[in-house]
Amino acid sequence: MVSAFQLPVIPRLCFTASSMPGLSTTELDQLLSRISSFVRDEIYPLEQSFLRQPFRELLPALQSKRAQVKAAGMWTPHLPKEHGGLGLTLSEFAQVSEELGRTPLGHYLFNCQAPDIGNTEILITHGTASQKDLYLRPLIQGEIRSCFSMTEPEHPGSNPTWMSTTARTDGDDYVIDGHKWFTSSAEGASFAIVMAITNPDSTSSYGKASQIIVPIPTPGFEIVRNISVMGEEGSDYASHAEVRYTNCRVPRTNLLGEAGKGFQIAQERLGPGRIHHCMRWIGICERAFDLMCDYAAKRELAPGVLLGTKQNVQEWIAESRAEINSARLLVLDVASKIDQLGASASRSEISLIKFYVAGILQQVLDRAIQVHGALGLTDATLLSYWYRHERGARIYDGPDEVHKTVVAREALRRYGMKL
Ligand SMILES: Cc1cc2nc3c(=O)[nH]c(=O)nc-3n(C[C@H](O)[C@H](O)[C@H](O)COP(=O)(O)OP(=O)(O)OC[C@H]3O[C@@H](n4cnc5c(N)ncnc54)[C@H](O)[C@@H]3O)c2cc1C
Repeated sequence: MVSAFQLPVIPRLCFTASSMPGLSTTELDQLLSRISSFVRDEIYPLEQSFLRQPFRELLPALQSKRAQVKAAGMWTPHLPKEHGGLGLTLSEFAQVSEELGRTPLGHYLFNCQAPDIGNTEILITHGTASQKDLYLRPLIQGEIRSCFSMTEPEHPGSNPTWMSTTARTDGDDYVIDGHKWFTSSAEGASFAIVMAITNPDSTSSYGKASQIIVPIPTPGFEIVRNISVMGEEGSDYASHAEVRYTNCRVPRTNLLGEAGKGFQIAQERLGPGRIHHCMRWIGICERAFDLMCDYAAKRELAPGVLLGTKQNVQEWIAESRAEINSARLLVLDVASKIDQLGASASRSEISLIKFYVAGILQQVLDRAIQVHGALGLTDATLLSYWYRHERGARIYDGPDEVHKTVVAREALRRYGMKL
């Protein structure tokens, strides 16, 4: 029998000793401090309008903030310098993502929001010169937005190889037919990257689908509706669409990478993408923690008796602090491993942080709301917005249960179990 103590373990907190090229500690501290000041001084004041207005009505104000971010040299911080970014390692960008995550507008204003961030990465790695010119360049400039169209209502998103959308070749074109939903940010996007079956005869279920760029509008691409999620339809960037592809014809040159490599390409973007999400959630947790402590330190339950004197509130504060700190260390550790060894070497650790941090996010938000009482359910703070919008964290990018299976199976294999 193998003792748990003999098992290979991931490097502990190796992000402190990263050998990757990147910023010095001082440079990173300065960058994080500048971003943090921008978030507090320039973005927090927009939040109440964000909560009360449709996204599209806020766009003029957001465009002028985006221009400020560009002028301050902080635009697209995740990208390599040759693409106009700051050339950060994943571990460094993770820390930026936390700062931006303290506000729902942070990632959008710095042009590193999902799904554009993932689509940008795909285009950099797999795009042809012409695709880069048509789609990547304006995406990086923030002139256009994009969406990623994989999940189908009729099939489980947790088993994405089982899909019905097809793209058949006809002369120089692909003709796409299918039905998707939860295509986030489709409204107002200039193109979709759609996952469709192009190689139905492949012997591998992972070798059947490809990623294809569909410019919007293209005849046959139809946004059926923005889906009402937790009572909100949203608009533009802040929306999730049901989409139909009916005889939707695009040139074969719109194929991204090789035919049949759609899942391989998707996998490449998922690892770093989950780091981005986890660190954004930690930013949300920190903001919720601030709100919880601030309220507990000021709210009187009776004259002179503060809410923060109650033992259960102190326990929530202590537990939240411990959970947020541990989550951050775990995520940065995995980010560092990806920096050094690549995402494919970290599959199980990525799954682990995905469900673990999503769970902490729900708990911290729930406690913060409870501390605020009825006020926590109003839009006076961001808590109720995040409570609604981030319930999905345990579902999108793979439900908790799937990620737990990945972690458990890897552990059990080390004990000789055949899975
Ligand atoms: C806010 C949000 C944004 C999204 N954005 C996008 C997007 O931009 N583009 C896109 O293509 N998709 C997007 N999605 C879809 C998302 O990827 C899927 O919802 C996700 O993959 C889960 O698929 P499903 O909803 O079909 O659930 P199913 O696959 O039908 O699963 C239902 C439930 O079954 C359980 N389950 C599933 N598999 C297992 C298993 N193996 N073991 C145990 N239990 C299991 C889980 O509890 C799961 O929640 C988004 C979803 C949300 C909520």
